[in-house]
Amino acid sequence: MRPNPAHEALAALDRAWGGGLLIVTQNVDDLHERAGARRLIHMHGELRSALCAACGRAEPWSDPLPPGTPCGGCGEPRLRPDIVFFGEMPYQMEAIDASLRQADLFVSIGTSGAVYPAAGFVQTARHYGARTVELNLEPSAGSFYFEESRIGPASMLVPDLVRELLG
Ligand SMILES: [Zn+2]
Repeated sequence: MRPNPAHEALAALDRAWGGGLLIVTQNVDDLHERAGARRLIHMHGELRSALCAACGRAEPWSDPLPPGTPCGGCGEPRLRPDIVFFGEMPYQMEAIDASLRQADLFVSIGTSGAVYPAAGFVQTARHYGARTVELNLEPSAGSFYFEESRIGPASMLVPDLVRELLG
């Protein structure tokens, strides 16, 4: 997998946009980073990271992770994938919530809109006054919360929107 035009456009926006900006992804791959994005939260964790279940330390990891792998910090054999599993709380929810409350523009890209807490982000953003736009292949389960829905592939819609924002 390589970064697609949507990843590239968001990274370009991140580089060019002088104001506040936060990319929140539910994906665990590193395609946003490889495209060059910096202001990024992986709310469901990262494939290329390992987490110690004993001390909570995360470290970069790209190899297989068999059970019993020792932590590079505390040495306990409890390293696990740094991925948020079903039923666990996603990462950095306070930072995400703070951004949603301050946002002038909230854009949802390529999500089903059916899985909470992410599905509720649009409601928070809209409640606090953000313009809300959905970019998706089809109207999502929460489509009616958005002021505007653009239907089509993210690889086309995201570059178009970024051009509008930077134009
Ligand atoms: Zn540890």
